Amino acid sequence: MSERALLDLLPDAVIRLDAERRVVEGNASLEALTGYSLVEMRGKPLGDLLDPRGRDGKPIWVEGWDPATRLRSVVRIPEQEIEIRRADDKALRVNVTGAYERDSDGRLEGAVLVLRESARRAHVAAAGIEIVSTVSHELRSPLTSVKGYTSLLLNRWDRLKDEQKRMMLEQVHHDADRVTRLITELLDISRLETGRLVLRREMVDLAELVDRVLEKVGMEYPDLEAEVALPEECPRVYADPDKVQQVLTNLVENAVKYASPKGLRVRGEADGDAIAVSVVDVGEGIPPNDLHRIFTKFFRRAETRPTGSGLGLWISRGLVEAHGGQLTAASIPGKGSTFRFTLPLTTFEEFQG
Ligand code: ADP
Repeated sequence: MSERALLDLLPDAVIRLDAERRVVEGNASLEALTGYSLVEMRGKPLGDLLDPRGRDGKPIWVEGWDPATRLRSVVRIPEQEIEIRRADDKALRVNVTGAYERDSDGRLEGAVLVLRESARRAHVAAAGIEIVSTVSHELRSPLTSVKGYTSLLLNRWDRLKDEQKRMMLEQVHHDADRVTRLITELLDISRLETGRLVLRREMVDLAELVDRVLEKVGMEYPDLEAEVALPEECPRVYADPDKVQQVLTNLVENAVKYASPKGLRVRGEADGDAIAVSVVDVGEGIPPNDLHRIFTKFFRRAETRPTGSGLGLWISRGLVEAHGGQLTAASIPGKGSTFRFTLPLTTFEEFQG
């Protein structure tokens, strides 16, 4: 078997570079990994072709080799995780390792790199640990309170006044809701990540749903003042009412927590094939740099009192997208923000067809 045929059988991508980091040779797995053919790659500098970046996002192997290569004894390229850009412009995380090639005087002649797509499972596992630690923390406080109040009620039942008992039971009730919600969110996360989220669709009356959400959030934040403007003949949507309620609750609660409970507006607009619901708040807004990041998992702005897990918007976007809609944000710093989600106006019949 020729050397080339052998290389092509390797499951890992192999690439050989010359002293100027231009592509000399590669195998079939390299073509599959990068989306470029060898003919396209040969002679091109690796930096221009794949835009490799280290964990800190800085380009590597563009200006020169790693400074450590000045030492003639350095032959191995230590394993590292980098990000490359494929031919279709998609970013891909890969693990790289390899060896430098030196002539008999120890001068660097090039390198052979071995690339392997980073194991997705490792990422999921890492995210899993992160989720567990954040959420355990969030679960503990309501449970501590449930335990505390129920112990008090059990031990001092005869000595407590009715209104004290009522207050404690209300608190337990509220904390139980919080735990239930967190667990629902957790289940949603794992289902969204594995594509197993099942929507229980029915015809939903949005006006009714908006009222219900405002009433519920209003119980927790009595200062809430919201104006609702929905189309006269608000069309019904074929959607999962619990999930839509969860999204809207998250948006209204965020507006109350991070902007202001006053001056809130919930607007609805129907245009032919979709209905859009916007939650408009009056507040300090979100700086442009943070605007796209608020939808990432665990992101919480340092300036805002961190009251949540940073998962709310990530989940909401996932839930809206599962319905075939979109969730976007716009904000004017110093004025306020608008969060808008769309839901396609598919009818039940269309959906079945
Ligand atoms: P959490 O569950 O922690 O509230 P979210 O994913 O819902 O997390 O929100 C992420 C971050 O986005 C929040 O920590 C907050 O800084 C910012 N944010 C969300 N909604 C608003 C808003 N209406 N106004 C200003 N900042 C907001």
